[in-house]
Amino acid sequence: MNHTPDVAWPRPRPWLAHLQPYVAGAPARDRNGSLASNENALGPAPRVVTALQGPLADAARYPDALATGLVRKIAAEYSIPEDTILVGNGSDELIQLLVTAYAAFGGSVVCADPPYQLHEKLPVTLGAEVTKVPLVDWGHDLRTMRGVAADIAFLCNPHNPTGALIAVPEVRDFARTSRASLTVVDEAYIEYADAGHAASVIQHAAAGELAVLRTFSKFYGLAGLRVGYLVADPAIIRTLQAIRLPFSVNRVAQEAAELSLGDEEHGSGVRENNALLRTELAELFRRSGYEVLPSQANFVLVLAEEEEHLVERLREAGIRVRPGTSLGIPGAVRISVPNSVGMEMFRGLPWLTPN
Ligand SMILES: *Cc1c(COP(=O)(O)O)cnc(C)c1O
Repeated sequence: MNHTPDVAWPRPRPWLAHLQPYVAGAPARDRNGSLASNENALGPAPRVVTALQGPLADAARYPDALATGLVRKIAAEYSIPEDTILVGNGSDELIQLLVTAYAAFGGSVVCADPPYQLHEKLPVTLGAEVTKVPLVDWGHDLRTMRGVAADIAFLCNPHNPTGALIAVPEVRDFARTSRASLTVVDEAYIEYADAGHAASVIQHAAAGELAVLRTFSKFYGLAGLRVGYLVADPAIIRTLQAIRLPFSVNRVAQEAAELSLGDEEHGSGVRENNALLRTELAELFRRSGYEVLPSQANFVLVLAEEEEHLVERLREAGIRVRPGTSLGIPGAVRISVPNSVGMEMFRGLPWLTPN
């Protein structure tokens, strides 16, 4: 490259040296076999897709910077105050904002080991120190985590990639007794939990006990539009509003999320498909001798010492899954719950359905 020798070539900050680009789950040729990214196999609600022509036609106009309509809808849905809600470009953006405001440049974070990847990567990127506490029985080691002094403690509930759920009283107890200043509970998959809404601490987040992250990417099938939200004390919401990019959530995403929130019919179909096929998927693998972790999410973790072999065998059948190694659990494979077409691909595998 061409530069004058007396001017230093820009170098990334030293703590960024070992970071690698995010490796997304690989898509399958037939999209019904794309089970590497926990996407919603039933897609978004059909009426949501139809309604998006309106905001698309308004593309020349900036979106509502604060997503007022969506905030109002979320507030009504959960009976929480509007000033406890902040909408973001996926919950990933909100993780970034939380870390920027409360832990960056010399602060600290505690999370599980393995964590949801961005609970570690964003703090590292922003110069926060990260303490990772190994899982116990595939769930958070809350007792050890609570003793770690930090600016933010991230809990992932249910946990990605294991599917383990922490009960509401334990989450609240953690927030109350943890040495971390702020507990952030990432509830990306909470709609899939058996207890449904009762498994969420969203009300306690609105009351200021902790912070909760939710997303439209999984249960609502809008991963491609990028929209999520944070529920937290109004002082936290105001702080993040002051540092965020004003138009990060586009108008199509806002409209889609608003309509999705009210679609009970599609939602119950998604829950039903997930409960039914998650059980069948786990049973198929268990009958063939694999250990499958109990899951409260829209994926299962299959323990398989010959991880690469299993990934390859599934790939040959047109099914793409996530290797555990890439998620911090070598000797495992994470499989998203398919739709009925995807399930049929598993049923047809001779090596998975003996006799
Ligand atoms: C998928 C996932 C997210 C991603 O959310 P976006 O809203 O798509 O950014 C957040 N947290 C966890 C634990 C996830 O698995």
